[in-house]
Amino acid sequence: GIAFLDGQYVPMSQAKVSVLDWGFLHSDATHDTVHVWNGRFFRLDLHLDRFFGGLQKLRMTIPFDRDGVAEILHNCVALSGHRAAYVEMLCTRGASPTFSRDPRQAINRFMAFAVPFGSVANAEQLQRGLRVAVSDKVRLPPASIDPAIKNYHWLDLVRGLYDAYDRGAETALILDFNGNVAEGPGFNVFCAKDGRLSTPAIGVLPGITRRTVFDLCAEIGLSATAMNVSVVTLRDADEVFITSTAGGIMPVTEIDDADIAHGKVGPITSRLMALYWQKHDDPAWS
Ligand code: PLP
Repeated sequence: GIAFLDGQYVPMSQAKVSVLDWGFLHSDATHDTVHVWNGRFFRLDLHLDRFFGGLQKLRMTIPFDRDGVAEILHNCVALSGHRAAYVEMLCTRGASPTFSRDPRQAINRFMAFAVPFGSVANAEQLQRGLRVAVSDKVRLPPASIDPAIKNYHWLDLVRGLYDAYDRGAETALILDFNGNVAEGPGFNVFCAKDGRLSTPAIGVLPGITRRTVFDLCAEIGLSATAMNVSVVTLRDADEVFITSTAGGIMPVTEIDDADIAHGKVGPITSRLMALYWQKHDDPAWS
């Protein structure tokens, strides 16, 4: 892969940042991940919107506008030579030259990189569906980081993941403070019941893939609503799937050792998965 750092394009192995950077010390950073398929970006505008929205909320400034960032991302992909890439733009608070505790003294640091595309789910898991555990050990606190700012803080999600591994599952969903389903490590979740889709409304990252599911549903006349999703609703669903830039729409066929959709990938999930990948060839969606 290739990274852009301090105004230069370098191999990933040379892309290094100081341990004094507040991104490392305080998780004071925002980022966004977009993917490239067959050499084409998918929904880059939406990723840029979210990234620049995060920068604004965090009062970080970078010396590039949207077009400038898009150009750097395109260059990283071209130089890396990957036709299917996982592309990251990120900005940290940076380090303060005087070790000041005043964030205004830090020099914000923009970076970007392109590496080979790696999915949350492998080919076999995409075919048979993922085994997921709902972790009730960890709950998203009520006054956490603004979930609309895409951030590296994953303490609760990683603890949920270990809890899931302990129980023989492949990945985790964690709950919000009220005990409703929130999200997982790097993905949002959808349930289908009687032909209608629901996904957790609050306390979750507004995923671009989640948004894409809403757009696909609008196109084919399926109902999809953001609302509270209880654990009972999840377990009782006809179909469940998770969504992420790193993997697209991915089926779930087991939750806490119980089959969903009789342990098979359901028809709504299959249809949305196919449509999702079809849209990658449609310039209107790039
Ligand atoms: N939720 C969390 C916590 C994430 O980190 C991510 C992506 O990394 C998502 C959801 C999915 O968002 P998107 O579809 O934009 O990749």
